[in-house]
Amino acid sequence: MAKQDIILPIKGKNNILITSALPYVNNVPHLGNVVGSVLSADVYSRFSKLRGRPTLYICGTDEYGTATETKALETKQTPQELCDEFHLKHKEVYDWFEIAFDHFGRTTTKKQTEIAQDIFLKLHKNGYLEERTTRQPYCESHQSFLADRFVEGTCPKCQYDDARGDQCDKCGSLLDPFELINPHCKIDGATPVPRDTTHIFLRLDKSQPDIEKWFTKSSEEGAWPQNGISITKSWLDKGLEGRSITRDLKWGTPIPLDGYEKKVLYVWFDACIGYPSITANYTDEWEQWWRNPEEVKLYQFMGKDNVPFHTVIFPGSQLGTGDKWTMLNHLSTTEYLNYENGKFSKSRGVGVFGDGAKETGIPASVWRYYLLANRPETGDTQFEWKSFIAANNSELLNNFGNFVNRVIKFINAKLDGAVPEFSPDYKGDDFDAAAVIADINETLSSYVADMEAVKLRSGLKRVMELSAKGNLLLQGRVDNANLTNSPERTRTVLGIAINLVYLLASLSSPYMPSTGASIAEQVNAPLLTIPDSFNPQALSAGHKIGTAAYLFTRIDDKKEKEWREKYGGTQASRLAEEEAKAKKAADKARDKERKAARKAQKAEEEAKGKTGETTDLPLRGKVAEEQAPPPAAAP
Ligand SMILES: [Zn+2]
Ligand SMILES: [Zn+2]
Repeated sequence: MAKQDIILPIKGKNNILITSALPYVNNVPHLGNVVGSVLSADVYSRFSKLRGRPTLYICGTDEYGTATETKALETKQTPQELCDEFHLKHKEVYDWFEIAFDHFGRTTTKKQTEIAQDIFLKLHKNGYLEERTTRQPYCESHQSFLADRFVEGTCPKCQYDDARGDQCDKCGSLLDPFELINPHCKIDGATPVPRDTTHIFLRLDKSQPDIEKWFTKSSEEGAWPQNGISITKSWLDKGLEGRSITRDLKWGTPIPLDGYEKKVLYVWFDACIGYPSITANYTDEWEQWWRNPEEVKLYQFMGKDNVPFHTVIFPGSQLGTGDKWTMLNHLSTTEYLNYENGKFSKSRGVGVFGDGAKETGIPASVWRYYLLANRPETGDTQFEWKSFIAANNSELLNNFGNFVNRVIKFINAKLDGAVPEFSPDYKGDDFDAAAVIADINETLSSYVADMEAVKLRSGLKRVMELSAKGNLLLQGRVDNANLTNSPERTRTVLGIAINLVYLLASLSSPYMPSTGASIAEQVNAPLLTIPDSFNPQALSAGHKIGTAAYLFTRIDDKKEKEWREKYGGTQASRLAEEEAKAKKAADKARDKERKAARKAQKAEEEAKGKTGETTDLPLRGKVAEEQAPPPAAAP
């Protein structure tokens, strides 16, 4: 990028730095991932730019960590090859959704190592790090320590047989991997053994007072949403503890300490550092954005599961360095988008993943509209094909598209394509121009207020309200008869209407960039800077508009069935799932049988006074019984 195109903050201006949670690289994103952070951040970034502010939007793929290393083992690639492949896949999906990152980078870079190690060493120097020895599950079969969620087994609380070492998805209990009954390695099924390992812990307990002080101020000033506040509060109320920030892995940022050559930084300590490091790969002047809290406001977008990393761990790391940092000002969190009353599932082919949206042939603007109108801001929401089609046909086409199209067409057909001359003070024939303009202004003010507060659903509603008002304005006032009988009123109505169309180009553009661009082309003027009040003569009398083009096309209701079948999981995948379930149940029954047999044998041997090994019995059960009681929870 040419140096003059680099976006930097300008002293004295309202400079906005935007991040969306870095998507993890080892999977293609689904619609819920898209709306949760990248799309929402994109809307705000586009809005902020249209308000004339220096705005930088940074994102990238989060590439280090166990999950990548493990997946690369499965796909027989190097972790780097896997990341290269998926980084591109992510980029393609976001490009199609018209996400306008200023830079889409990645975490596996030299800058990441430099910045992460610098933060690490400063925390070390300032006494925020300490070494602790913990006991971790180790898989002797593939010779590696196992992250908690790579240990699977039966939940000791509710007996669910598919619990993970960190959590049971059925009863929600937080678990320690050693608590699981019949624990096994997710990768090869071997039984993990406990093994000691030494790690570095970040002393969040020591940072707690500073984090609390910062949180109180930032959450108030930035008007954080309720879920962000309560998640952070619950962490602080429980009392922060030291958290391990290193892992026994190869694929990660190296640790700049002697004796730690075989370990790397934990991906969650590392991931948030990706924001400054990706910015550093965008410009050498990255510190103008990241070490400039007086001049820069930081807006961060994420799903609610990412909140503590952005409101506790990363701020704790920043504060502990003693350096000056731009810190989170406005937090935007979302709940979950579900798919047709269920969950998105890649393995079962349920939901729209990767380029699935593109395959429908429906333009990105319609997808963006639907996802943002259903953005899970205060609770979970649903993706449903029926309402997706209804949104296109009745909201976009009948309301929004119809208004724009009628005005452009009529002016071209009857007024020679020129904006009519009129007075905004016109009053007559049961029509009061000033009242109509005041009404538009009121909705515009609400739009601006909503957008400034990052209430994106509500902002989009205002756009639709304005086009509905436009339709009402035209109703019974714009046709040949009116043009002959009531020429002044008709010109006034059309003058206001074409300027409302022009305003809508800008207001809709953050949500539907192609639509906004098409309207701008149809009125033959560049997008307006989003104003605080409506100027009904922004396009002045005599301005020649362009030709009409359809913004949206009708979707046949029959498509609902077709798409639902296509994206609802195939018959084969459903069958495979049933089979896997049955197999699991059979395995479980067999395990039980063996255990019972072993007990019986043991009893028999004891009765005979023998102490022989019982080698023919499953290792899994044996180690589980020999295992020491679970150690204190390691995060
Ligand atoms: Zn293993
Ligand atoms: Zn459970």
